[in-house]
Amino acid sequence: MPSHSISRRAFLGAAALAAPAGLKALTAQWPPSVPPGADADPASVITCPCQGVDREAAQAGPGAPSAQAAQHRDIVAAHYTPEFATPALEAELDFPAVDYHVHPEDGTPPEGLLALARERGIKIGIAQHGGTFGGMTSDDDMEAFLAAWAGQPVYRGMQGDGLEWPQMFSKEMIARLDYVIADAMIFPEKDGRLIELWTPAAKVPDPEDFMERYVAYNLRVMEEQPIDILASSSFLPDALLADYDKLWTAERMEKVIETARRLGVALEISGLYHIPSRKFILKAKRAGVKFSFGSNSRGKDLGNIAYSIRMAKECGLTARDIFTPQPHDQKPVIRRRL
Ligand SMILES: [Zn+2]
Repeated sequence: MPSHSISRRAFLGAAALAAPAGLKALTAQWPPSVPPGADADPASVITCPCQGVDREAAQAGPGAPSAQAAQHRDIVAAHYTPEFATPALEAELDFPAVDYHVHPEDGTPPEGLLALARERGIKIGIAQHGGTFGGMTSDDDMEAFLAAWAGQPVYRGMQGDGLEWPQMFSKEMIARLDYVIADAMIFPEKDGRLIELWTPAAKVPDPEDFMERYVAYNLRVMEEQPIDILASSSFLPDALLADYDKLWTAERMEKVIETARRLGVALEISGLYHIPSRKFILKAKRAGVKFSFGSNSRGKDLGNIAYSIRMAKECGLTARDIFTPQPHDQKPVIRRRL
């Protein structure tokens, strides 16, 4: 069977094949353990936003749901409905669709990922986790990651977790990556606790107060880390999704957009979360900010970027609006001297 017509069943079976030894060692480190300094309290254990959660089960309370609760569930469900890229959907773009947010940690072998990417008409970037919460923690780890994927038709990138990761690797090693992404989804609360904003359990008692601190944290994520892409940009916890347009005021959007423009950070249009909104994207486009596509997927779900492609078409994004990996001297870690 030609590899481009690999069936889903065959692919899932292929996932059991042995991955290269280097990859196996790297992929075995996720989910990470408790971050340094945190209690062993299960609520403080950082998991991976791309593992997925059973949102329906988590949100279904006892008894009959109220109309308001049902409406809220519909809004959340609409934001999480997966839709994969197809060659037909991609056809009208004047640039290649790249899913830069593919995590390999489910152990799917490279040939399985590549077959799916071909089937879905996209190129992929492998975003290996690294930093405070696990994954790569040293230059040796990064060297092993680069070697494991060398010669494959993929971009080799990293998702940096925790603001301290730039101190864990040498600048030259970071600059060897095709790109680095980071998000603002592990949010430090006022008391220092780290909140996983993507879990249905993330509660936000005062949305306005949260937004002020969250926008400020988004700026820190871009300012303090040599990143190419702000992943899952404009993400909001489920509890706030129904008020996305109200909470992302023009002023708040402008703060994120202006910082992204000034630092040359691209905003990810997330296929997984269906964000940012059209309004947000158009505003950022007018400011000259670039965009990337990302599925925030683990292995077989790569290419869940139909939302990103649709938004690119609806907002008139062309090649000049789209992020591409930069040459060495333009890598953020070199250019910004962080
Ligand atoms: Zn991710």
